[in-house]
Amino acid sequence: MSKRDYYEVLGVEKGADQKEIKKAYRRLAQKFHPDRNPEDNTAAGKFREVSEAYEVLSDNEKRAAYDQFGHAGVDGQGGGGFGGGGAGDFSDIFGDVFGDIFGGGGGGRRRGPNAPARGSDLRYNLELDLESAVSGTTVDIRVPRHVACDRCDGNGAEPGSSVETCPTCAGHGQVRMQQGFFAVQQTCPTCHGSGQHIKVPCHKCNGEGRVRETRTLSVKIPPGVDTGDRIRLNAEGEAGINGGPPGDLYVQVAIKPHHIFQREGRHLHCEVPINFVDAALGGELEVPTLDGRLKLKIPPETQTGKLFRLRGKGVKPVRGGPPGDLLCKVVVETPVKLNEEQKDLLRQFHESLESSTSRHSHSPKKSGFFDSVKSFFEDMKP
Ligand SMILES: [Zn+2]
Ligand SMILES: [Zn+2]
Repeated sequence: MSKRDYYEVLGVEKGADQKEIKKAYRRLAQKFHPDRNPEDNTAAGKFREVSEAYEVLSDNEKRAAYDQFGHAGVDGQGGGGFGGGGAGDFSDIFGDVFGDIFGGGGGGRRRGPNAPARGSDLRYNLELDLESAVSGTTVDIRVPRHVACDRCDGNGAEPGSSVETCPTCAGHGQVRMQQGFFAVQQTCPTCHGSGQHIKVPCHKCNGEGRVRETRTLSVKIPPGVDTGDRIRLNAEGEAGINGGPPGDLYVQVAIKPHHIFQREGRHLHCEVPINFVDAALGGELEVPTLDGRLKLKIPPETQTGKLFRLRGKGVKPVRGGPPGDLLCKVVVETPVKLNEEQKDLLRQFHESLESSTSRHSHSPKKSGFFDSVKSFFEDMKP
């Protein structure tokens, strides 16, 4: 399904300002609004296309992403933008623009009983490993959903049979019932509000116009996605009703925990153990990155917990911008399972430290700590 250029859809220049975009949108939305085009089946689709183009181009951030990456730059951005807000229905987003076009002033849009209704949005939870999220990937997902029945083209009538206006309500979907002094409006009991009378219901969908089907969809995951990001698959949600447009499918991304890296936005964190000799004398360390090993120079007298920042070795954010950093935290490891000779060497080493004239300067932290402890207890003396 290839999509048309949003500027082309709205019929504006690339450099159009917000005023021109809004104007073009109002004009086209009025033209294609399903309520105004009850006879035209293609109007709902065009209306949606126009609304989608407006949703992107009216939002400076989305527009910038679209200008840079085309549809790929904004397809991931669901209704409320990445991560935030509910998926929502499109009508929520442009509801405020419509208020003053149709119906005027707070009152809801008047919908005929046969007005096309948009299908529901669907949500699919997708777990990704860190590597695929960073590099981008394509995954196949199986989505059970209602799709328009292909036997009857979604109108619920067996092919060859006719759909007639409901005789009870004359197509209004509502009937007036007299109850004593009162006349009340009720949903038509014959057609249940559809205003139509199907003579022979479609054999495949029993007249519902939709059938349940599980379809495998290929989802393109752009590089850099993170937990909470949503990828919108246009028109892959539930089928619409009465020929209305289908809803969207939102793929909600969650990243699985990684055994080496922790991700924090565009930065990655990892812990690298080193032995205390390397920490004291300095040395070279091999550190993991997402695209292979890297040598990291450790200066002499490196203390445990020191962070080394490898610039640009983090994640390139999905919405653009420079890649983040990899932050390696060095953890000095106490040696274990020493043999007698090694233990002796350490004892000798310890004695050498103790007899050194500048012994306090070998462990600045420790000396500092015991000095504070000393003064702490002295302060407590009366
Ligand atoms: Zn059918
Ligand atoms: Zn009826």
